[in-house]
Amino acid sequence: MARLIIMGPPGSGKGTQAEHIARHFGIPAISTGELFRTHVGDKTELGAEASGYMDRGDFVPDHVTTAMLRARLEEADAADGFLLDGYPRTVIQIGALDEMLADRQQTLEVVLELTAPDDELLARILRRAQEQGRADDTEPAIQRRLELYRDETQPVLTAYSHRGILLSIDGSGQPETITKAAIAALEGSLAG
Ligand code: ADP
Repeated sequence: MARLIIMGPPGSGKGTQAEHIARHFGIPAISTGELFRTHVGDKTELGAEASGYMDRGDFVPDHVTTAMLRARLEEADAADGFLLDGYPRTVIQIGALDEMLADRQQTLEVVLELTAPDDELLARILRRAQEQGRADDTEPAIQRRLELYRDETQPVLTAYSHRGILLSIDGSGQPETITKAAIAALEGSLAG
């Protein structure tokens, strides 16, 4: 069974790709952003704590995010594998995830990175802003999310690259083409 991470900047289409890839491998796609949005929609205490950070494009504090993810990974459907989307986003969170997995005697197999040029990222986010009206798809929040990705999340990619488990694919172009390329790359990597 596969334990995978998908990473990519805001607008890279990682959420959409995560759904398709997870279905192919028969594992749940676990998106911390989606978990937060569900809490906000359900007006839970955790949602109330997270929403201000999210609306500004800031990271939700680690104690909230990590506890939420830990609980989600304990659910039965994640026992045999999962595709994480949106975690870890910082080097500190790498350590937290390592601990969660070590507690369960599990390891990560592959980290898939979707790359895309900045102008395409921005165009996609602006389109999504019109279609879905996400509260954090405003100009300042988008800028902040891109900045945090560059400053805090790029080092996560570097760390996984040093572990030899980073797989990068071109995330620009048609979604269906990217899904096929991602699945082929992952299958090759999981087999080898
Ligand atoms: P995107 O990748 O488009 O910025 P996500 O749906 O992955 O969007 O995340 C939305 C928001 O949820 C983030 O901007 C942040 O506020 C919060 N969030 C998601 N994952 C994390 C995380 N691992 N650590 C801290 N905050 C997070």
